[in-house]
Amino acid sequence: MTSHDQPDAVPPVPHDTGLSPATVVVAAGRPERVQGAPVNPPVVLSSTYVSQGVQQQGEMLYARMDTETWHPFEETLAALEGAGRPAVAFSSGMAAIAAVFSFVPAGGVVVLPRHAYQVTLGFADDLAQRAGVEIRRVDVADTDQVVAALDGASLLLVESPTNPMLEVADLPVLLAASRERGVLTAVDNTFATPLGQRPLDHGADLVVHSVTKYLAGHSDVVLGAVVAATDDLASRVRAYRTLHGAIPGPFEVWLALRGLRTLALRVERSQASAAELARRLAHHPDVAEVRHPSLPDDPGHERTARLMTGFGSILGVRPVGGADGADAVVAGVRLWVPATSLGGVESSLERRRRFATESVTVPEDLLRLSVGIEDVEDLWRDLDGALRSARG
Ligand code: PLP
Repeated sequence: MTSHDQPDAVPPVPHDTGLSPATVVVAAGRPERVQGAPVNPPVVLSSTYVSQGVQQQGEMLYARMDTETWHPFEETLAALEGAGRPAVAFSSGMAAIAAVFSFVPAGGVVVLPRHAYQVTLGFADDLAQRAGVEIRRVDVADTDQVVAALDGASLLLVESPTNPMLEVADLPVLLAASRERGVLTAVDNTFATPLGQRPLDHGADLVVHSVTKYLAGHSDVVLGAVVAATDDLASRVRAYRTLHGAIPGPFEVWLALRGLRTLALRVERSQASAAELARRLAHHPDVAEVRHPSLPDDPGHERTARLMTGFGSILGVRPVGGADGADAVVAGVRLWVPATSLGGVESSLERRRRFATESVTVPEDLLRLSVGIEDVEDLWRDLDGALRSARG
C-alpha cells in the first residue's frame, strides 16, 4: 500500500479507561476540552482536503480514505469493545460483514451458524458459488459440532445470540479452539452489543456490528462497523474499506454517535421490559412457546447468565394457531410496529418466515419481537390484546 491508498493516521484509543461502559458511551469521542470548544464533535462535509505533494502522516487527503467525522464514533465503539485501536465504520452492517468475508481465500472454508442473519447466510452462499468457498453451517449452541467443523477452516463467523433463534454459543471455548487451529474468528455482536459481551476479551480476532440496530438505536440510520484485535487486522479492514468504497456518510456516523450516547439507558430499559414480557408470555394461553434467555428453562439461560451481562431484548414467540395465527398477531398490534430490523427505541415484530430466504429450520410461526423503551404495561396490553384477538 502507498500512503495514497492507505492513510494510517488514526488516533490512539484509550482502551482501559477504568470507566464503566455506561460512562464511556457518554464521555468518549468528545472534542478536546478547551475554552470555547464545542461539546459535540462537528460534522465535516468535505469530500477532499487541501493538499499537495506527498501526504504526511495524519494529514487528511480524500474522504473515501478518511474523514474526521468518523473518528469520534470509531473511538467510542473501540473503547466499548475494549480494542486498542479505532473501529472501522462501514456504510452498513452487511458492508462490514463483507469486509470480514474478504479474509477468506478462494477455495477456503467458512464455519457459521445455520441460523445466522439470513443475508449473512446469503452472502456466504454467493461466496461458495463465486469463489468455491466451502460453507459449513453449524448449530452454534452445540460446541462439539462447531469444534469438529473447524478442521481446515479459514474463518469462524459466530453470532451469539443468533438471529432469530437466540442460540447462545460458548464463545470462550469456540474462540480458543479456533485459535489452536489457526482459524480466524469474527463475532457478530449486533444482538448482544458491547454492553452484553466483549468478544475481543474472549480472544476474537474481529467483531462486527450492524450499527443500524442497538448502537444507533433509533431506526433512522443504516451503518456498520468492524473492530479488530490487532493493528495489522485493523489496517487490512481499513484498506478494504478504502478500496471497495463501502464508506459511511459523515452525517450517518454523527447520528449513530448521538444514538450511542443513550445505549446503556436504552439497553437497561428494554432488557428489563423483555424479561417481564417473557415471564408473562410464558403463561399466556395463546402462546405455544416463548424464547428469551432470561427464562430459567430457556436453552440459552445458563450460558447467557455465565458469559454475558443481561439477557437482551429480543424475544422469540410462537403463538398458537401456526403461521396464520402469527400473521394475525402482527396484524392485530397497534403500538408494536410491524417491521423488519430491531434494536430501535420503538418495539417491533415480524414473522421471520414471511421471507422466502429465511432458513427452513426457523419455525413458520416464529415471531421475532424487538422490545423498545416504551412503558412495559402499554406494550403488554397491546400484545396481549393482539394474541387474544388472533385466537378469534
Ligand atoms: N448482523 C445481524 C445480526 C443483523 O441482524 C443484521 C441486519 O438485520 C445485519 C448483520 C446486517 O446489518 P445491516 O442491515 O446494517 O446491513
